[in-house]
Amino acid sequence: MNDSILIVGGGPAGLAAAHALARVGRHSVLIDKAERLGGAPILSGYAKLVPSGEWAKDAIGGMVERVRGDSLVEVHTGATVRSFDGSPGDFTAQLSDGATVRAGAAILATGFTHFDSLNKPEWGFGTFPDVVTTTQVEQMISSGRGVRCPSDGRKPQRVAILLCVGSRDRQIGREWCSKICCTVSANLAMEIREELPDCHVYIYYMDIRTFGLYETKYYWRSQEEFKIKYIKARIAEVTSDGTKLIVKGEDTLVKRPVTIPFDLVVHAIGMDPNLDNKTIASTFGVELEPHGYLARRNTYGNMAETTRAGVFVAGAATGPETIDDSIGQGHAAALSALGSLGAAKATA
Ligand SMILES: Cc1cc2nc3c(=O)[nH]c(=O)nc-3n(C[C@H](O)[C@H](O)[C@H](O)COP(=O)(O)OP(=O)(O)OC[C@H]3O[C@@H](n4cnc5c(N)ncnc54)[C@H](O)[C@@H]3O)c2cc1C
Ligand code: SF4
Repeated sequence: MNDSILIVGGGPAGLAAAHALARVGRHSVLIDKAERLGGAPILSGYAKLVPSGEWAKDAIGGMVERVRGDSLVEVHTGATVRSFDGSPGDFTAQLSDGATVRAGAAILATGFTHFDSLNKPEWGFGTFPDVVTTTQVEQMISSGRGVRCPSDGRKPQRVAILLCVGSRDRQIGREWCSKICCTVSANLAMEIREELPDCHVYIYYMDIRTFGLYETKYYWRSQEEFKIKYIKARIAEVTSDGTKLIVKGEDTLVKRPVTIPFDLVVHAIGMDPNLDNKTIASTFGVELEPHGYLARRNTYGNMAETTRAGVFVAGAATGPETIDDSIGQGHAAALSALGSLGAAKATA
């Protein structure tokens, strides 16, 4: 019987699980394949988060510091799990850094992979340098450089943000809604207007899903206070006339073609299943759900359970999730892992 808990993935979900376990005096081993902890918000350099408005480096950086400073959390960065054997209460993992970890339970918090916009070539990414992604705009803002056209460093006068890039797109096998990109885009649009008050910002959408309480703070505020223009459209292509980028499509409200020039076009990229998921599934002996995320065994009875007893899951590893829900799921997985250790002890 081993009382320690293995946590794979040090993003918001894994950090929350490690902290929750430490709070109740439980040792955990947190491993991440990246050299730094923090997951997507830190590794991809997000700027101000929705809905808190806090800088990612402070909010998630604070979660990293809390875990780094806790003697009950043993951290391995730049490491993956090579093999995982045993049964609840007594698992053994071999890590790529040569370490052996004994644990009574495991939590998979391995997150997602950003959609690669090269898979949507007709929308200009990879062809025109001034077609960028939301993560690139996040980095422009968080680095303090400001929003600029990569081709020549000029301040854009007209920006288009295209929603649902790599989400809700059956043609490229991505049927899911990535949940957060409408809200993130409305937030970025307001940040662009704040930095560049003369810049015109348009958001091209199929539907707007600033769900729950985000409607007031992002959807309405972006239009009423920041004068962001929303166009309901089906986009055909992004081309260039040599000076400007041209977004061509159909305005689906008035059913007319719409062709507008821009300086900068931003793809609001979605959340793909982690590219490692097949390897993770075979290493840990867990199943994937049909889209390729890690499957939950039970939605209501114990949402953190995978298809293998003693192995739990949290956060965007299970599908597109927000940071706050990923943190909540990290806590839930920590509690489930503790419960499974109790059950394993009782039967030992
Ligand atoms: C452009 C963009 C902006 C966003 N902005 C916001 C926002 O403002 N607010 C919000 O609520 N949400 C936002 N999100 C969503 C947010 O990124 C996720 O909710 C959050 O990152 C999920 O946390 P996680 O810990 O589950 O996964 P991740 O953040 O993906 O972390 C997973 C960790 O696991 C590690 N890992 C992966 N595979 C392995 C492996 N095989 N072995 C070991 N380690 C591994 C990774 O290196 C990573 O550190 C945004 C998403 C996008 C695409
Ligand atoms: S949240 Fe908005 S942009 Fe993202 S996939 Fe859903 S509808 Fe599209």
